[in-house]
Amino acid sequence: MVGSDVQIDGGPRSVVVVGAGIVGLSTAWFLQERGVEVTVVDRTGVAAGASWGNAGWVAPGLSMPLNQPAILRYGLSALRDPNAPLHIPMTADARLWAFLLRFAAQCRSSSWRRAVRANLPLNDECIEAYDVLVGNGVDAPVTDGPITAVFRTPRQAVHLLHEVSLMQDCGQHITATTLSESALREHVPLASPAITTAVSIENQRFVDPGRFVQALARSVQQRGGAIVTADVRDVRRSGSRVTVDTRCGDVLAAEAAVIATGAWLPKLAWGRVRQPVQAGRGYSFTVPIDRPMPAPIYLPDVRVACTPYRGAMRVAGTMEFRSPDAPLVPERVAAIVDSTSPLLDGVRWEERSEVWVGPRPLTPDGRPVIGPIGPRVYVAGGHGMWGLAQGPITGRLLAEQITTGKTPTALEPFDPAR
Ligand SMILES: Cc1cc2nc3c(=O)[nH]c(=O)nc-3n(C[C@H](O)[C@H](O)[C@H](O)COP(=O)(O)OP(=O)(O)OC[C@H]3O[C@@H](n4cnc5c(N)ncnc54)[C@H](O)[C@@H]3O)c2cc1C
Repeated sequence: MVGSDVQIDGGPRSVVVVGAGIVGLSTAWFLQERGVEVTVVDRTGVAAGASWGNAGWVAPGLSMPLNQPAILRYGLSALRDPNAPLHIPMTADARLWAFLLRFAAQCRSSSWRRAVRANLPLNDECIEAYDVLVGNGVDAPVTDGPITAVFRTPRQAVHLLHEVSLMQDCGQHITATTLSESALREHVPLASPAITTAVSIENQRFVDPGRFVQALARSVQQRGGAIVTADVRDVRRSGSRVTVDTRCGDVLAAEAAVIATGAWLPKLAWGRVRQPVQAGRGYSFTVPIDRPMPAPIYLPDVRVACTPYRGAMRVAGTMEFRSPDAPLVPERVAAIVDSTSPLLDGVRWEERSEVWVGPRPLTPDGRPVIGPIGPRVYVAGGHGMWGLAQGPITGRLLAEQITTGKTPTALEPFDPAR
């Protein structure tokens, strides 16, 4: 049993958060800031989902919703290429096709702009929310720096610059600078001679995501929170409380609950969230490098993100529409190496380690689902490609909503009932 029945100012005094990824743990941490007693429960442990092996970018300037009109054309051409960064299995089940049809319907300029505008407050405040965590006991390094996008030809850079200008038109603050040849080599010593053009997106940030989420979990525990390992079967209201049933038979109860289970969200929130959440699986691995890597590198044409990681480089890419629990497909990793190796020199591709697959929680309309799905039960998830960046600010806003009962304006576009 978690917490007591006494309430402060009408808000819950105890909350069970299901899911120990960046979103669930951030929500727990910011609930603690408001005096709430928290228990976080995860079926595997801390950072067991997408929050572990991602690229680690806290990059508001690149946090573009996926439902761009161009992605639809790209997706159709990728269907014919088994090595394309976007992979849709031809055996896709009915639920996946239903998601893809809804997604396709949202790949319009007007829907994309709506998603960009909705995400603005999350992007504007994501770095500050990280600062609050780090300034108050979350003991993990965060590194400020540019992210440099590199291209074979100046023409290929035009597409990114166009996307940036569309984001700017919607109100997103982004400083993008086209680099001279010498600045390119200085920013990206790993760039091979095939690279001729670079655009630097200034004032971004990156972290070691696994290390950061582990530190966040330790901070939650140091502030009195419990972290429990159990597979949750159901989250339901029970009188004036919420009951969380686990598969091992243990029952947790509190005055409210938050379901923050990433791409597994539909299992527990089934029928209570109108937007389907679908796994868009990504792969990553670590490779030793023989040249300096001062900051992250973005390779838009092959859709790969590279990040300095523990003295080496983490390489992340691919969007594979498959079950979040399906096994890793080695061919996807080989396809990343094949497409990326001509663009970077000084990388020991054969010595790769920590090969990983994890599910991005995608929604069709490019907006996460954050808010109540019934009395005392909330969801937080569906941040797609940008959940690491947006996790802490999501937790901060949701904690405000849960404890005050008022929906912050920034959360209105993310209503799970939309
Ligand atoms: C290759 C790749 C690169 C990425 N790069 C970036 C990036 O650079 N920047 C960025 O902002 N985002 C990035 N992302 C996206 C980001 O990783 C995700 O959006 C984010 O981690 C989602 O966090 P989450 O807490 O919602 O879900 P998760 O981290 O997936 O956590 C969900 C948790 O719920 C648990 N769980 C599930 N079901 C149950 C159950 N029934 N009972 C108990 N526990 C359960 C799981 O074990 C898991 O720990 C990337 C993703 C990938 C795959």
